[in-house]
Amino acid sequence: MHGRMMHDKQGKLTFQPYGKEGQFINSISRSNLNMVLMDKAESLGVEFSFEQRISSVNFEKTALNIQNQKSSIKQIEFDSIIGADGAFSAVRSSMQITDRFDYSQDYIAHGYRELHIPATESGSFQLEKNALHIWPRESFMLIALPNPDGSFTCTLFFPFEGQVSFNSLKTEVMLPNFERNFSGCL
Ligand SMILES: Cc1cc2nc3c(=O)[nH]c(=O)nc-3n(C[C@H](O)[C@H](O)[C@H](O)COP(=O)(O)OP(=O)(O)OC[C@H]3O[C@@H](n4cnc5c(N)ncnc54)[C@H](O)[C@@H]3O)c2cc1C
Repeated sequence: MHGRMMHDKQGKLTFQPYGKEGQFINSISRSNLNMVLMDKAESLGVEFSFEQRISSVNFEKTALNIQNQKSSIKQIEFDSIIGADGAFSAVRSSMQITDRFDYSQDYIAHGYRELHIPATESGSFQLEKNALHIWPRESFMLIALPNPDGSFTCTLFFPFEGQVSFNSLKTEVMLPNFERNFSGCL
């Protein structure tokens, strides 16, 4: 993507280059990137174990309690551990019940939905393919990133509550609203 393609409410387009002529950023499939990184790590001797859910960490015994698909629990001792298990981290949960562990969590007022713009029947892009498309609308926005198959993966960032929100969509017809706000997208 050589730049951002901004879509205003009237459907007017403005292109904002990311850099000098020929410079660009890439839209990459995360699952493919994960596969490439795992192949590389394996070639360097890293071992992967799938379907091994950490249920808790015993910091006194420096051991992981691991549950596999058959629900049996096993313990693996460790010398050091990096807890990279995401938003609902089991490693962090176990740390939370140790002495003086401080922790805070905030939620933002916005959520998101992933949407999809398909390729045309002939497999071409419906929007400019070398751009990250943005429909900025003050309290919410839509973005679209090109895929190799001619489709776009879109993310709608939208408030949970308020006049224009996921909550209000439950009682309003979404499509006219969508067309009004995101012309050029449908
Ligand atoms: C739809 C979507 C789109 C996003 N788009 C973007 C974007 O465009 N740009 C951006 O910067 N960010 C984006 N994000 C946010 C980004 O994905 C996260 O911030 C990032 O992945 C967090 O990384 P992490 O390593 O902390 O956790 P994660 O990526 O969630 O990785 C945690 C890993 O730990 C594993 N795990 C969890 N619990 C256990 C357990 N008990 N035992 C063993 N393993 C466990 C999980 O299976 C997972 O593999 C997006 C998120 C979503 C959901």
